[in-house]
Amino acid sequence: MAEIIDGKKISQDIKDEVRDEIKEQGISACLAVIIVGEDPASQVYVKNKKTACEYCGIRSLSYELPENTSEKDLTELIEKLNSDDTVDGILVQLPLPKHINEDNIIEAIDPGKDVDGFSRRSVGALSIGTDGFVSCTPAGVIELLKRSGVEIAGKECVIMGRSNIVGKPMAMLMLRENATVTVVHSKTRHIEEICKRADILIVAIGRPRMITEDYVKDGAVVIDVGIHRIDPEKNNGKKLCGDVDYEDVEPVASYITPVPGGVGPMTIAMLMKNVLKAAKDR
Ligand code: NAP
Repeated sequence: MAEIIDGKKISQDIKDEVRDEIKEQGISACLAVIIVGEDPASQVYVKNKKTACEYCGIRSLSYELPENTSEKDLTELIEKLNSDDTVDGILVQLPLPKHINEDNIIEAIDPGKDVDGFSRRSVGALSIGTDGFVSCTPAGVIELLKRSGVEIAGKECVIMGRSNIVGKPMAMLMLRENATVTVVHSKTRHIEEICKRADILIVAIGRPRMITEDYVKDGAVVIDVGIHRIDPEKNNGKKLCGDVDYEDVEPVASYITPVPGGVGPMTIAMLMKNVLKAAKDR
């Protein structure tokens, strides 16, 4: 039986710490959130970010732009926010409509306000181990591990997935924590064998319930980054699942994150931490 890593509680603790620091030190912090178009999932994410800001005592500015907004207009808004001294962090909700180049938009954000940690400068800083904003989801995984008392140094860590927002920064962070890191992806051969070596297995592949006990060593720590909507009628009332087949893996793992309530809530908590860092750095 695995110990369940409670992301809901840990993320709440982090938001409370941010709120207390802001209050006690009289810090004024402000996050500008930009959303283009009406993707329902993005709208929910943006609403949750605004609610978290309110909770932590962070002012939030919201820019809801129509689907047909041009790249030029979006860039001009970012430039305006870059030069606004009252704005500490700028977040552009992804994905953007297809006619806008996401890379250009991310690069338009002042690196000192890149609280999502997606810009080349932030990624470069993470790679060479200098100070910068770390992408929120992988940073959240590190907090989950540390606050659950999981030792990372010297451990064999396998990361499944190599995306720019999860897998790659995750690998850099685990290296920084002195783990021995292997990254596997869709072209990796003998993947089960490699995963079975892991003391810490971090799964971010976007494949519902693909990871069964066949991938997991006895006593391994299993972190499930995946999130998928599923039909509650066919899944005992459950609306969400991860990349890990929880029921199958839980009996062999030593620690495991559930979905929902594991990695998911950590992303927004780490965003709040990044906005506080931006405000303090400025
Ligand atoms: P992504 O951009 O689609 O990347 C998926 C990665 O997994 C790719 O590197 C891909 O390999 C690899 N992969 C796919 N199928 C595989 C397989 N069968 N075996 C081994 N590797 C495989 O996804 P992402 O953005 O990193 O997200 C991954 C999951 O995390 C998704 O379920 C997403 O919803 C979730 N997510 C959650 C949060 C959160 O909790 N806040 C945040 C971000 C993402 P190739 O590179 O070879 O294609």
